[in-house]
Amino acid sequence: MVSLAQQAVTQRIQGVGMTSHRTRSRMVDRLQQQGISDSKVLEAMRAVPRHIFVDEALASRSYEDTALPIGYNQTISQPYIVAKMTELLLEHEQLTKVLEIGTGCGYQTAILSQLVDKVYSVERISALLKKAKDNLWDLNFKKVKFQHNDGGCGWPEYSSYDGILVAAAPDKVPDVLLQQLSIGGVMIIPVGQKNKQKLHKITRTLEGFDDKVLDPVSFVPFLTGKS
Ligand code: SAH
Repeated sequence: MVSLAQQAVTQRIQGVGMTSHRTRSRMVDRLQQQGISDSKVLEAMRAVPRHIFVDEALASRSYEDTALPIGYNQTISQPYIVAKMTELLLEHEQLTKVLEIGTGCGYQTAILSQLVDKVYSVERISALLKKAKDNLWDLNFKKVKFQHNDGGCGWPEYSSYDGILVAAAPDKVPDVLLQQLSIGGVMIIPVGQKNKQKLHKITRTLEGFDDKVLDPVSFVPFLTGKS
């Protein structure tokens, strides 16, 4: 027997009107027009219901291409940025193990979990991490391991990673994270202070690191410590 609580979760995931599958498909069409071309990324964006990651009061805006508040002064990243960072990461051929810093509400985590074998996700705010775990549990996504910690430490226990995706902007790329990247591995990270941030794609080579500076972006700051 399916309980009433389970039925309510299923209905919420399915959505209706501005949270329906059709609205999500329109978001995916827009992403394509904006230049996202990796079909695997587009399919993952179509599969994951973004509306369940935001408060119900904001659910009707969840498929707009905009960042939205998730509490604790943090935001869920805008769909285009989530898709772009994921696409950049997937340019790497053998992506099996990915470290994500800045779980937030878990939306980017859910997208990654559709595309790679294992996701390790670190968040410094415990209340947000709990939200993310609940969201991913409701969606039955089980490929993710979470840790409540300052992501500046990375997650040495499972290092090295062939992909690292950072969702908050430090002034400078943390050396500890660079050291947890496999040879040939790729890190996608916003770097710089407010209004001056750029997205970087850093590839670890046998000789060192190849740092490609990409588009201007706007992320919340990468903070130290945990709460
Ligand atoms: N991709 C997330 C974005 C969340 S915003 C989403 O879609 O919801 C960025 C997140 O990075 C915030 O939750 C913030 O608390 C977290 N963060 C900032 N500095 C951090 C650090 N040093 N370690 C871990 N998480 C950090």
